[in-house]
Amino acid sequence: MPSSRTRRQLLQTAAIIGFGVVTLKLAGFSALAGAGLDGGPTDGPAGPGQVRHTDAEWRRMLSPAQYDVLRQEGTEAPFSSPLDHLYASGTYDCAGCAKPLYASDTKFDSSTGWPSFYRPLPSAVTRHGDGSLGMERTEIRCARCDGHLGHVFDDGPRPTGLRYCMNGVALNFHPAAGVQPPHGA
Ligand SMILES: [Zn+2]
Repeated sequence: MPSSRTRRQLLQTAAIIGFGVVTLKLAGFSALAGAGLDGGPTDGPAGPGQVRHTDAEWRRMLSPAQYDVLRQEGTEAPFSSPLDHLYASGTYDCAGCAKPLYASDTKFDSSTGWPSFYRPLPSAVTRHGDGSLGMERTEIRCARCDGHLGHVFDDGPRPTGLRYCMNGVALNFHPAAGVQPPHGA
């Protein structure tokens, strides 16, 4: 049994640690509020992390497959996305925050089994070094909600020579105005 003096010190230490946690939580809340937590997605200029949610909120908002890719940096099975061989005119938006990320005229068939584009829309995505899986790759995230989208490789077609290899589950397709939706008739 610890002496009463030791116990008092332990309690004091616990109180100090507890205070620190509360302070951090308050600071975190202020940062979230400053980032426009209540505002929701906007169409203004994007900044990294402009749309933020807690992990519990993301779990509630996204399907399990979307959550796995966007928030856990998972990878969908190749040839599993209906967007892989979709070439209708329109835009591909982030499944996490609805930010438009790619235009259909930059999409090409990479034969990899994942939707591939040679160029994102301006300021739509951010690049991050990724050394996981024993490979040096460049991860691509949504510039607005920081959701993981896929990777970019330098074996793409002209004019950029880049291949943005995206998880289809992280994207939603929006047909251009006046264009029939795919498979519609
Ligand atoms: Zn997003």
